[in-house]
Amino acid sequence: MRTRFAPSPTGPLHLGHAYSAMLAHDTARAAQGAFLLRLEDIDRSRARPRWEALIFEDLSWLGLSWPEPVIRQSARGAAYAQALARLEALGLTYPCACSRADIRAALAAPQEGAPVLGPDGVVYPGTCRKAPPARREGMAIRLHMRRALEHLGDVSALTFTETGPARAGTHRLQAEALIRGVGDVVLARPGWGTSYHLSVVVDDAAQEITHVIRGEDLFEATQIHRLLQALLGLPTPVYHHHRLIRDEAGKRLAKRDDARAISRYRAEGLSPDDIRRLVGLEREGGAGLGTQPSGCINSTS
Ligand code: GLU
Repeated sequence: MRTRFAPSPTGPLHLGHAYSAMLAHDTARAAQGAFLLRLEDIDRSRARPRWEALIFEDLSWLGLSWPEPVIRQSARGAAYAQALARLEALGLTYPCACSRADIRAALAAPQEGAPVLGPDGVVYPGTCRKAPPARREGMAIRLHMRRALEHLGDVSALTFTETGPARAGTHRLQAEALIRGVGDVVLARPGWGTSYHLSVVVDDAAQEITHVIRGEDLFEATQIHRLLQALLGLPTPVYHHHRLIRDEAGKRLAKRDDARAISRYRAEGLSPDDIRRLVGLEREGGAGLGTQPSGCINSTS
């Protein structure tokens, strides 16, 4: 078993990250497997060395360890370019010149109906698919979903195993859901050379991750990841989407939620075991992928 924790160094880790990291770590350790750390720093405008340093500090303090060297996505451009070139060579991509405002305007057109919110934001109305723009350096590249599905044939044969408590079982890709509910996702953001979906799929394969353990908010994105694995000929790990840690009001924690930052609890004198208790992850017996401890954190301040 090989699991990973893949934070973006764009803010302090909070209780939700601690839960995710400890669950992935405990699960790997219980199976004598490996726990890997990967820094998802492709968004260069938001990634900061100080957040990266704090990630190492917080995770070490929590008692987690991982093999070196730690992969940084910012250093993996060649691998993403190769994957993108493969999809381009198959004729499954197209460049897109739309800004967010262009997309909003296109979706407001009377023939469009209500915008559909998918796992990658609003479903793209297809402006640049229908009228290809002149190609420029640094343009976004989108997946031509319909063509990708045609290329794969019967996608209902593509499945992934989910072991998370909310949706455990075998999930099958559905062409209609991918066209209407996901659409032409971005494979490369302008100036990035990649996107979250492309890089996560390429890196999970490169790191030979067998079990992806991450928050429930990413469950819907998994169909995109499964599709990209099929298109790129990459293996599919087992997925485990865990419950999200919420505040007293039931809201999920966000990066800017500094009140729940691990570093803050640390400064206030809490111990790593206190953090485990706060997120409902007691040490006895390890994590056990099937366990589902209580949902909310209690106020400590
Ligand atoms: N980098 C993502 C995040 O911080 C996690 C991606 C994943 O686990 O697939 O939310």
